[in-house]
Amino acid sequence: MHVSGEPSFRESVDLMFNRAVKLMDMSPGLEQKIRVCNSTYTVRFGVRLRGKIETFTGYRSVHSEHMEPVKGGIRYALSVNQNEVEALAALMTYKCALVETPFGGSKGGLCIDPRAWDEHELEQITRRFAYELIKRDLIHPAQNVPAPDMGTGEREMAWIADQYARMNTTDINAKACVTGKPPHAGGIQGRVEATGRGVQYGLREFFRYPEDVAKAKLSGSLDGKRIIVQGLGNVGYHAAKFLSEEDGCKVIAIIERDGALVNDAGLDIEDVRQWMNRHDGLMAGYPDAKHVADGAALLEEACDILIPAALEGVINMSNAARIKAPLIVEAANGPVTFGADEILRAKGVVIIPDMYANAGGVTVSYFEWVKNLSHIRFGRMQRRAEEARHILLVEELERLSKEKGVSWTMSPGFKDKYLRGAGELELVRSGLDDTMRTAYQAMREVWHGREDVEDLRVAAYIVSISRVAATYRSKGL
Ligand code: NAD
Repeated sequence: MHVSGEPSFRESVDLMFNRAVKLMDMSPGLEQKIRVCNSTYTVRFGVRLRGKIETFTGYRSVHSEHMEPVKGGIRYALSVNQNEVEALAALMTYKCALVETPFGGSKGGLCIDPRAWDEHELEQITRRFAYELIKRDLIHPAQNVPAPDMGTGEREMAWIADQYARMNTTDINAKACVTGKPPHAGGIQGRVEATGRGVQYGLREFFRYPEDVAKAKLSGSLDGKRIIVQGLGNVGYHAAKFLSEEDGCKVIAIIERDGALVNDAGLDIEDVRQWMNRHDGLMAGYPDAKHVADGAALLEEACDILIPAALEGVINMSNAARIKAPLIVEAANGPVTFGADEILRAKGVVIIPDMYANAGGVTVSYFEWVKNLSHIRFGRMQRRAEEARHILLVEELERLSKEKGVSWTMSPGFKDKYLRGAGELELVRSGLDDTMRTAYQAMREVWHGREDVEDLRVAAYIVSISRVAATYRSKGL
């Protein structure tokens, strides 16, 4: 989405970077080194499909190699272009630094409408694209590790992992060449839900600080908060589902490609998603809500929390002044342009920035990569030992009470819950929760601790740029 007078996505990220770096004590040389994108590889390849050769254009951009491997998703969309891939790669650098995953930033994309091809054709195209990147080490467990993004998911990641394994038959760490794989192909429990889960954990952490909540002119907890979500794909669906089912939020509108669904009493997210699955990804005709054809207009409706979770640039200079939500959570990458950010800040809107809000995906990708390199499932060694120690304690308490003649009973369900050792999913969620809390605290320390920092985005940039700078300095730059 490009509105005239608006900087491009890449320029928008750089302008946000510049705002932060102005408040930091950094040499212009180092500042420039961090800002620039190190390299972008463009590939055009042909695949024989439906009796003729189709040519596709793809990109893999590496923003910063201050840590390796570099990491970032692969996007499938017709709108993919070099500017977008580079902006997304830069965001990956800052995101990884903010949530302390030991990676540099990268991103990839293929100009394709994934809905235009059947599964077998998509597999041929994906394998060919992967082949081009693998032979240049742009997919490699130690150098460059992709993940899913818009238009891709577990299925594509499994094809990429298999393609790498075919081309590197003796690489014992081959599975670590890509994350977001299905569990049966070397993936990890909880990766599919991770980005949406991270949005939920991030919001929970925000609501733990009443003074932060007050800055957004809100009060109380997440319970009863009215939410509008844009995009019911991987990120939007999970965020909306968890916030409504587990935190008492009401999703009053969902904006999708074919308009919006509105229900003031709150939408049943699972039901809407099932409907879309049965109706070719379309929401129109869903019986328990009003359908509005002009979906984007719903971004401007009154609500407590607006969660853009589809694509970049949707809140821009043309609609920012009319946005009524006092709190915006950037679940998508770059949904608010630089110009819109200025307008919203002037209005006092609090924005939880993308590099934090959607970092759950890369965090759990990091866990998956570690799992692949260690060749063992998380919890496999400790789980039963942990359970055995808990049983010991409970049995001892029961023995003591019998011996002393005290009659007490544990509350129902306590024993079961306490005795159960953590499996992979619980450990992944716990690691993600800890990451989202710690990163939020680092941001808010800068937000509240410095008078010259007005917003969470600048705070987030300051935290991550300082970390990237520290790594470069220790390399002697
Ligand atoms: P997805 O392809 O699963 O879902 C995107 C959804 O947005 C789809 O349902 C699509 O129909 C909808 N959509 C497309 N154009 C729209 C429009 N104009 N208006 C309303 N809805 C529209 O993609 P995703 O993986 O959920 O990614 C969404 C955003 O989150 C992207 O910005 C991506 O970069 C970011 N992100 C994703 C992950 C991840 O783990 N998948 C991690 C971090 C950030």
